[in-house]
Amino acid sequence: MIVVGAGIAGVACATELVRAGVDVQVRERGRVAGGRLASRRFDGRPADTGAAYLTVDDPDFAEVVRGWRAAGLVREWTDTFVAYGPDGRREVAGPTRWAAPRGLRSLVEELARDLPVSVDRLVMTVRPGPTVDGAGCAAVALCMPGPQAALLLDPELADATRAALQQRWSPTLSAVLRFPSRRWPDFRGAFVNDHPLLALVCDDGDRRGDGAPVLVAHTTPE
Ligand SMILES: Cc1cc2nc3c(=O)[nH]c(=O)nc-3n(C[C@H](O)[C@H](O)[C@H](O)COP(=O)(O)OP(=O)(O)OC[C@H]3O[C@@H](n4cnc5c(N)ncnc54)[C@H](O)[C@@H]3O)c2cc1C
Repeated sequence: MIVVGAGIAGVACATELVRAGVDVQVRERGRVAGGRLASRRFDGRPADTGAAYLTVDDPDFAEVVRGWRAAGLVREWTDTFVAYGPDGRREVAGPTRWAAPRGLRSLVEELARDLPVSVDRLVMTVRPGPTVDGAGCAAVALCMPGPQAALLLDPELADATRAALQQRWSPTLSAVLRFPSRRWPDFRGAFVNDHPLLALVCDDGDRRGDGAPVLVAHTTPE
């Protein structure tokens, strides 16, 4: 079986298949596993540029997170964010948000450690059969956003293409802002509502627990 995409979904899928005794190969077009759980290093320090944190409400996932916590891979960050809007600033309570001291991508790396993941491996076509780039296999799991999956699917797989295209996504830019020192009041993370440019700003040093003077901002789709 071939799993396309080594984001958290593909790696979790492949882990379960291996556990069930299925022979699996994972193909990832990027240089590393992680997908949108993206962390980039600046002077050796990772900053989270994709997902900002994770929350836990599924009991099975809670079990996974307990293991990550025991291994020092995740830490409870905060249940309180700030929201900025036309009426000013207010604190908003929410679920516990978890962060990863080594960046969220480290969680996918950990899950993928014993999996056969081929990186730099762009899959171009999936045809009925199924075949992946011309080679036959028992089954294929496309573990990426629907619009990306639709690009790979042969026109004969019109139902799958339609289903994939029903997913919607929006672009965003992430800016990693590094300062000489911390010069802002504690805010952890801030949702910015009704702003033409900014959607979210997170204190990456607070999130990751090292106190580094680094903010990560996500733009609105516009
Ligand atoms: C800016 C941003 C902020 C976010 N914030 C949060 C948050 O705070 N909390 C939260 O829970 N979620 C958040 N998310 C969402 C979260 O990151 C995603 O839901 C999750 O990472 C998706 O994982 P995935 O495995 O489904 O897809 P992806 O992570 O997109 O993985 C798909 C993988 O498939 C690969 N791929 C695609 N096409 C091909 C191909 N043709 N051949 C080979 N490989 C291919 C890609 O390179 C990628 O690695 C955020 C996302 C973004 C972008």
